[in-house]
Amino acid sequence: MNSNKYKVLIIEDEGNIRHFVRTILTTNGYQVVEAKTAAEGRMAFMSHSPDVVILDLGLPDGDGMEFLKMVRKEFSTPVIVLSARTDEKDKVDALDIGANDYVTKPFSSAELVARVRSALRNSRRSTDEG
Ligand code: CA
Repeated sequence: MNSNKYKVLIIEDEGNIRHFVRTILTTNGYQVVEAKTAAEGRMAFMSHSPDVVILDLGLPDGDGMEFLKMVRKEFSTPVIVLSARTDEKDKVDALDIGANDYVTKPFSSAELVARVRSALRNSRRSTDEG
């Protein structure tokens, strides 16, 4: 039952995908905070200080890109972008704005967990050295 210390914020409006991601992460010992809109995501980000954000690009109240820009102005929190979009330009734009990784739907639970672990490893490496 003991959880690892990491908190993941999921911002995704589709309930089934949010539920899928939450189940995967809680099974692997992560704490999970959920948001259904970009506005909820901003509030949750500020109040919970997550270690990693999983961000859907297609949100009902605006593009996930705007959330990503907001975070990158002040924070180095790793952000994994989640999207059904297969358009190459969206991936490039998200990475240019500061996304750490990109997962295209549909994805497997093993892939998602591996990417979360990788994002945490990279952020620890950059903040804990020295
Ligand atoms: Ca969506």
